Amino acid sequence: MNHSHDIMIVGAGPAGLAAALECRRRGFDVAIISPPRTGRDERTAALLAGSVDLLERLGAWDLLAARSPMRSLRIVDATRRLIRAPEVTFHASEIGLPAFGYNVRNADLVDALESAARVIPRLVASVAAVASDSDGVRLELSSGEAAMARLVVAADGRHSTVRDSVGIGVREWRYDQSALVVNLAHELPHGDTSTEFHTETGPFTLVPLPGHRSSLVWVDRPHEVARRVAADEMTLADEVEARSSSLLGAVRIDGPRQAFPLSGMTATAFAAARTVLVGEAAHLFPPIGAQGLNLGYRDVTALGDALQGPGDDPGAPTNLATYERARRADIMTRTAAVDALNRTLLTGFLPVQALRGLGLFLLDRVPSLRHAVMRQGIALPPAARPFS
Ligand SMILES: Cc1cc2nc3c(=O)[nH]c(=O)nc-3n(C[C@H](O)[C@H](O)[C@H](O)COP(=O)(O)OP(=O)(O)OC[C@H]3O[C@@H](n4cnc5c(N)ncnc54)[C@H](O)[C@@H]3O)c2cc1C
Repeated sequence: MNHSHDIMIVGAGPAGLAAALECRRRGFDVAIISPPRTGRDERTAALLAGSVDLLERLGAWDLLAARSPMRSLRIVDATRRLIRAPEVTFHASEIGLPAFGYNVRNADLVDALESAARVIPRLVASVAAVASDSDGVRLELSSGEAAMARLVVAADGRHSTVRDSVGIGVREWRYDQSALVVNLAHELPHGDTSTEFHTETGPFTLVPLPGHRSSLVWVDRPHEVARRVAADEMTLADEVEARSSSLLGAVRIDGPRQAFPLSGMTATAFAAARTVLVGEAAHLFPPIGAQGLNLGYRDVTALGDALQGPGDDPGAPTNLATYERARRADIMTRTAAVDALNRTLLTGFLPVQALRGLGLFLLDRVPSLRHAVMRQGIALPPAARPFS
């Protein structure tokens, strides 16, 4: 049997489901193609203002089982270097916001989006190949079936089959670092504050969860991460408490541990051949500064804005060009900023350390600079509205 829709969304992760809802909201006939969901993603994502706005518009925000506000962000220089930066704490209230963002479990986010998207037709299959011409795109499915669309949204993750199939290349790089991701229960309250300890081998970041719980992303050399993944719970809990200078008191490991090798990737184009790339199909970078999915949600917003009305051809070259233009600078700038932040932590080069220290010193003392950086960090325009 053949399936034909205006727009086919390939992938049902947090980016694909949001893209499907956004295209439907714009009046298009949409379907999703994805294999069955396997397991629950225990990672969490810190969602910033623009992402929250999008999820509200899509009707998914109020369906979230839990969301923890991040009212303050604290940066601690935990290096043992000659030049150390001062501790800096930013408060959302300084720029008129109740919170910088909200930390949510990926599994809860996908549940909420699935629930909002239950009216959207779903083909349970993998896409094996796509071929496009001036009229539309034909998708070959693993089930042996085929599907037709006028626009394909590739949201099939970092190893995107759709991206490869339409001939969009990638630029990839690796870091000599991995991230240990685990949830913690702890003795003391986190006070809705996210704390990032900067160390010589990467950031150690605690992000609030409901109650006396936090999620930890600990970036370090791969062998150290492998050792901590294998360590017994007491040993790891003690190490976490020591690394965080007992900020949250005694710590208990509260869930499975996952290790992610750190790498980066940017697609060489974000739209081509009646196809647009969103989320990790388009860009991937280290889990530093809570940018990955937030960037993916700006892709989804830009996609909605690039589409004309339902009477028009959604895969028209003008729409693709609008999307490409809208996304290129943002994706390139964020990727470079996260890469630079990571590399300034790793460097032993004194002038770079001094500059980093000076930057944080100025951020601590100069209110106008603090406010500009806070807005830029959460991708808010200068006078954006606060969360509703
Ligand atoms: C440790 C860690 C911490 C992070 N923390 C944050 C954070 O605090 N804030 C933030 O914004 N981001 C964060 N991120 C990034 C964020 O998790 C990702 O950006 C996000 O999960 C990617 O979602 P996605 O929908 O693009 O891809 P995925 O979740 O990978 O979804 C891909 C989908 O495509 C489907 N698929 C794959 N191949 C095919 C095919 N051939 N045919 C059909 N379907 C297919 C899959 O089944 C899946 O449904 C973090 C990442 C890591 C590793």
